[in-house]
Order: sequence, then structure tokens, then C-alpha cells
Amino acid sequence: MSDLFIKNTVLENGQNADILIINGKIAEVSSSIEGISDDTPKIDADGWLASPPFIDSHFHLDATLSYGMPRINQSGTLLEGISLWGELKPTLKMDELIERADNLCRWSIAKGTLAIRSHVDVSGKDLLGVEAMLQVREKFKDFLDIQLVAFPQDGLFRSGCLDNLNKALDMGVDVVGGIPHFERTAAQGNESIKILCEIAEKRGLLVDMHCDESDDPFSRQIEHLTLETARLGLFERVAGSHLTSMHSMDNYYFSKLLPMMQEAKMGIIANPLINITLQGRHDTYPKRRGMTRVKEQINAGLRVAFGHDCVMDPWYPLGSHDMLEVASMALHVAHMTGQNEMKECFHAITQYPAQIMHLENYGLKKGCNGDLVILQATTPVEALRLKPARLFVIKKGQIISTEMPKSSKITIGEETYNVSFTQKDFSWYGTR
Ligand SMILES: [Zn+2]
Repeated sequence: MSDLFIKNTVLENGQNADILIINGKIAEVSSSIEGISDDTPKIDADGWLASPPFIDSHFHLDATLSYGMPRINQSGTLLEGISLWGELKPTLKMDELIERADNLCRWSIAKGTLAIRSHVDVSGKDLLGVEAMLQVREKFKDFLDIQLVAFPQDGLFRSGCLDNLNKALDMGVDVVGGIPHFERTAAQGNESIKILCEIAEKRGLLVDMHCDESDDPFSRQIEHLTLETARLGLFERVAGSHLTSMHSMDNYYFSKLLPMMQEAKMGIIANPLINITLQGRHDTYPKRRGMTRVKEQINAGLRVAFGHDCVMDPWYPLGSHDMLEVASMALHVAHMTGQNEMKECFHAITQYPAQIMHLENYGLKKGCNGDLVILQATTPVEALRLKPARLFVIKKGQIISTEMPKSSKITIGEETYNVSFTQKDFSWYGTR
């Protein structure tokens, strides 16, 4: 819990602002704050953008940074990834799991992502992954809000892991997960949704299911998830992750489904980097992109978040856990290049996942946690365009990561120019 005075920043709405954090909380945000005592730590943001920290609402910390172990996913499909993970699982060791997740958490902090919802596989013979991730959550608790989801990767019925799932929740895992489309039949998938939502209702927990992660237009388990959400009164507590089959659904059916999702106040988590990589693999041309109908869902007032899902694991060979890369990919794939649409893509890695994860005191208003990122950008759209340096990452008033501004020096004849690719390169910047 620290004090910090951040001078000369700019907010998302373009307003210049100073931000004062006292005792880890935002005490004041205004165009000019005077009378700060000499012993308060200070930084000059030099006119760069202040954003609430990024949030990754869908990740797998137990699998991360294991790319190539024991072999590489040759087909690039979701199903080969799942079977590859099944080969790797029995060989996992506690210290290695912790070491890889630790590394990822450090990358996350450096990129200004200060909250992660991570699914943890509970369908193996033991709960080693859960024990390891609980240790990681504890280790990083003052720096990173880690929310763990009990995730039956191999299917609740298909692998018979209901006891393990309940044990994981008893051990302190926060959220109930599921994977209905991976059960043997759609009927068993629906039954798994019912059982898992009832567990969440009884324990007072949130729900986040991998749902309809396929190109099958008739994979409609989201329908049953909305039904159980409404039946049990779990409004605003349930999220459907992936929902990629919606990309391939008939438009008429989608027009029936969307109001049901509104009624259930369903949270939606798309994973653009992964969805466009894993889906459409059975297509020739045209190839489907596989991302859920983000634009329509946002226009319908649903809370839509973007997750990174994977970094260098059996499903995805790339990534550095940069949520701006995730949002940038989403806006391209979803044709969301309008000004407001791009801002909504920024919200899908900030305020919307905060709502879905029920994070308290999130934002840049007085009374919120003193958590923020100063980006080397002048607007959120510029941040999406450049994926710029995270100049300062601040948690409860404490600077926990710094990065030097990026700048190239260009010499053209006698003239020398600094190039940052931002609007500050333009002679008119600050005059309009
Ligand atoms: Zn996932």
C-alpha cells in the first residue's frame, strides 16, 4: 500500500490529468493537483496515456510455456492439442509447473496485465496442477489477481472427474468450469452444464465454461447454459468462453439465441488469437475464422471480453502475453475498425473482463484501487495500433514494472528526427 503522484497523464477520453494515489487507492483524478508534499513519490507521465491495468479473462497457466513437450501439434487442431496435453500431463512435475507459471506471471506484469482468470485441469489422476497454481496465486497475490477455474479438460462425464472438481473447489479454486461440447453426446454436455451450474449455485461461485469450441453450427450448448443460468438465477455470474460455433450458425437461429443470452446476462469471452488458429482447420476455401459474433454481441449490450488463452503450449506456439496483441487481432478479425468499435475492443481487455470476473474497485476513478498502466501512446486506439512500451505498471500505488520509451533516431541528410510512431511525431500534436 503506497502513495504515488502521477503528473501529466492523459485519460481515455482525451482529458489531461494528474492522478494521486494514497495508501494504495486513487484519492484524486483531476486536470491539475497542487500541494503535493515533498515526501510523496512522484512520476512524470510526459503526456502519455493512463489506462486501468489489462485483464486476461481466459488463460491456462498450468499448460503455458510447455511448447514442444513432448512433441509439436502437427495438425494445428484443438483436438490434437487436447491429446498432446493428455500425453504431457502424467509427466508434469510440481516445480516445473510452478516455474513456467511464474515466468508467465512476470511477463504478464511487464505487459501491464494485472488480473488473470486461469483454467486449471482437474481431469487427471491427481490435482498436481491445482496445488501448483494455488501456490502461484498465493505468491503473486499482492501483484496479480489470479482467479482459478476448476476445468474438466477431458470432460466431466467422459473422464469421470466430478470428485476431483469438487475437491479442487474445496482447496480454494474460485470458479466452476466445464467443457460441454467435449462430452460424448450433446445430451451429456447439457447434463454436465446442469450439474456444474448447480454446484456453483450451492457454493455461491462464478461459472466459466469452454462452450461450443468447434466449427459445428449445431453445437448449441450455449442454449442450455443460458437456460440453467436463468433457472438458477445465476445472472451476471456466468460466462461462456469461446462460443466459436456461433461463427458458423444459421443467422435465423442466432437471432433466437441472442435475446436468450441477453436475458441470462451472459458474459462472453472470445479468444481471437486461438480461435482463428484452431478453428476452420477442416475447411478448404473459403476458410471460416471461427471467432464468435463479437460485434453483434457488443451491439446487443452483452459484456464481451477477449482472452489470450494460450502462450507457447500444445495449442499455440506464439505469444508474449500482450493483451493489446489480443485486442488488435480481435478488431481485425471482427471487422471492428470504426472508432467506437476499436474503443470497445480496448474495453474488452479492461472494463468488460473486470465486470465478468467481478473484480472490485477497478478503474481510474476516485476510490478505485491504485492500479494502472502508463502506455507510450496518446489514445487507446493508438495503443491498439502500436502495442507500445508499458512505461510504468503500478499496483496499489507501487511501481512494479518499468520500460524505456521506444524511439528511433533517423538521419536524413543534415536533419535528425526522432520517430516514435505516435501522434507526438506530428508537428501539430497538442495544438488541435
Ligand atoms: Zn481455454
